Amino acid sequence: MKSANSLMSGLGTTVFEVMSALAREHQSVNLGQGFPDDRGPQEVRAAAADYLLNGHNQYPPMMGIPELRQAVADHARRFQGLAVDWQTEVLITSGATEALGDCLFGLIEPGDEVVLIEPLYDSYLPIVRRAGGIPKLVRLEPPTWRLPREELASAFSDRTKLILFNTPMNPCSKVFDTEELDFIASLCLEHDAYAVCDEVYEHIVFDQHRHVSIMTLPGMRERSVRIGSAGKSFSLTGWKVGYVTAAPELMKPIAKTHQFMTFTTPPNLQWGVATGLRLADDYFVALAADMEGKRDRLANALAEIGFAVLPAHGTYFVTTDFRPLRFNGTDEDFCRYLTVEAGVTAVPVSAFYADASFAPRHFARFCFCKEEATLDRAVERLRSHFGR
Ligand code: PMP
Ligand code: GLN
Repeated sequence: MKSANSLMSGLGTTVFEVMSALAREHQSVNLGQGFPDDRGPQEVRAAAADYLLNGHNQYPPMMGIPELRQAVADHARRFQGLAVDWQTEVLITSGATEALGDCLFGLIEPGDEVVLIEPLYDSYLPIVRRAGGIPKLVRLEPPTWRLPREELASAFSDRTKLILFNTPMNPCSKVFDTEELDFIASLCLEHDAYAVCDEVYEHIVFDQHRHVSIMTLPGMRERSVRIGSAGKSFSLTGWKVGYVTAAPELMKPIAKTHQFMTFTTPPNLQWGVATGLRLADDYFVALAADMEGKRDRLANALAEIGFAVLPAHGTYFVTTDFRPLRFNGTDEDFCRYLTVEAGVTAVPVSAFYADASFAPRHFARFCFCKEEATLDRAVERLRSHFGR
């Protein structure tokens, strides 16, 4: 038989699936894959449930139901001061994952260069490559994960079609500041490139940090794509509802891709998310405050147990250096060991690099978006395992 696509056939199974399966097998406390264990806002679920029973359960419009597209536009104005035309500039997708695929397949021409920032979310690179893009990787170094300006500037060329980046950033919990975004914007303008920004954690930002969308910077309104996810903003990761915002000309090829990938997204979930995006500011403030408390609870306990804990300014995650615990082995070994021997699952950070053998191998990512009792159970197990 002829072989299938070599790039896709050559991929392993995503680390999140691998670690969650291992967690189930060993009944460990799963702080690996990023999903909350609360139920999400009652009014959002009630709206989706009511629509499921009483609404129109046939194909919604290809771009998304008007109520949700309007809510996405209003939400962008409320939180980023962006004026967005809901009819021509908003697309609803089946999760940010589909949105990313739509953007990359819709914008990249084979041979285009694509700038990416490592560590990077694991769906980016395979899709860039499958779309024919040539990845130009720039690496952030721990513990500060500062943007290396010279390297970034040299990664851009006149062949650069776009930069794809993520802020707040998974896994390293960095929130790009305005100066860094300005610098990225200046490179996009200089090289006539687009910025595709994965902003799924836009509401999960801590301390004095603020989420700024690169789309709000001078000259970037027409050349940026902003991607959000209801999974993160409403703690409903299984719903897989994403939203894309882009200027009309940029949106066209993205929507063309969407129409042949999924065409549309379940209408009751869209309805529920529209309710969510219209929740009062209090909801979003409480979401960030709640996550910040969970971050502190887990990060402080991990530090007491002996991990070197890196700062986490946003997202669901905290990165830890496990070398102080004197473990001899890679991050993959460590995460497997921790699941089997201590009953707690984390994710090896090398999975967020193009090539794990050239990645740091001493970081484990723990997810803190859990009920306090879940975090406490994990901490108890780690304390008793490491004798702290
Ligand atoms: N981007 C990042 C950085 C993520 O962490 C995730 C994970 N949930 C996604 C995209 C995918 O989001 P969704 O579940 O909405 O597809
Ligand atoms: N984004 C989640 C994480 O980083 C996982 C999403 C997935 O499993 N596809 O843990």
